[in-house]
Amino acid sequence: MLARQAWRLLIFPDSLCAKLLKAKYYPNSRLLDTAFPRNASNTWRAIEYGLALLKKGINWRVGNGKNIRIWRDNWVPRDYYLKPVTRRRRSRLKWVSDLIDEECAEWKTEVLHEHFDPVDVEEILKIKLSIERTEDIIAWHFERTGVFSVKSAYKLALNLRTLGANTSGSKFQNRSRLWNYIWKADVPPKVRIFAWRLAKNALPTNENKKARHILETSTCAICGFEAETAFHAVVSCPHARDLFEAMRTEWPVPDTKQLHLSGPDWLLLLLDRLPAAYQAPLLLILWRNWNDRNAVTHGGARLSIEESARALKSLQNTLYKTTNHTSDDIKGKATMNIFAREQKKEATPMNLAQKLRWQPPGDGWVKINIDGSFIESTGQASAGIVIRDQLGQVLLSS
Ligand SMILES: [Zn+2]
Repeated sequence: MLARQAWRLLIFPDSLCAKLLKAKYYPNSRLLDTAFPRNASNTWRAIEYGLALLKKGINWRVGNGKNIRIWRDNWVPRDYYLKPVTRRRRSRLKWVSDLIDEECAEWKTEVLHEHFDPVDVEEILKIKLSIERTEDIIAWHFERTGVFSVKSAYKLALNLRTLGANTSGSKFQNRSRLWNYIWKADVPPKVRIFAWRLAKNALPTNENKKARHILETSTCAICGFEAETAFHAVVSCPHARDLFEAMRTEWPVPDTKQLHLSGPDWLLLLLDRLPAAYQAPLLLILWRNWNDRNAVTHGGARLSIEESARALKSLQNTLYKTTNHTSDDIKGKATMNIFAREQKKEATPMNLAQKLRWQPPGDGWVKINIDGSFIESTGQASAGIVIRDQLGQVLLSS
């Protein structure tokens, strides 16, 4: 497997092969940061593919933190997302070592609380530091030993591939299944991260800010009526409610009764109750409501339901088009309103797309698609060939 080649380059930087490739392609940078030129050799392109997978499963084990960049590297040991989720604010912090008190080998808790959201702080504090100030090491996150294995990489590749497939219908409810509603939702990564923070009550709502003594009052800046909890900001504030109503004519939107849930797990429980086709629209609307709330709170923007609804529809339109670039057939038929079209079937747009999409071959196989044409009158002929692997990655096309 190609990811293994990339892994070797990473942990044996002194091997001959690694030195040759480094001299040619990334003389001044690290392998993990390299962007690859179009004219790269086949060997290199093959490694690049493996590297893309590797990057998703690499996690730094913090030693002294001097080699790990806070915002760019993977180093937060949790499932799925290994970088900090806190939005980067203006700060000089760059290296993980900036967060560590070297003397006593402890995290600088105050600095963490100042620069990171609670979701990150919680995870960072779980990382044990060593007094011996060891070097940082690159580890493979999906094996306990930290050593890359083809088996776990394959599993990761499969997991990434099934991202978006829906898992409802199981009666064995457990928390990780609930979290999958968010992590596997058919929405852009930024929306998933938002939803995760929302579910963890880690958004900087006025109520959370008041609790941390950043604000004196928690009153909602939009309506001025109630304390701004996360639920209020994205569901029950009049503006949020109006957007739900406006989208109801376009997308499958849960009815008002279902939106009455509250309590710490309201979002996960709500997602659990909804048919698959309702989940992505719900997350997109919540996300837009939070953005609108930010626009008012930070920029004093004026809210317009029409504008917000239009933005959501065009977002969905581009999302749908870009996820189906393998099939011209479907692209031509895409409409503004895929959610509504799918509502009756209770299927997500993904499911529909998968039926008409190119189907990947089994593990270890490649699939070759060939098409040709011939113009009788001129005798001209041409042919195209695409070779793809089990992940749908193009290995060769001509
Ligand atoms: Zn409000």
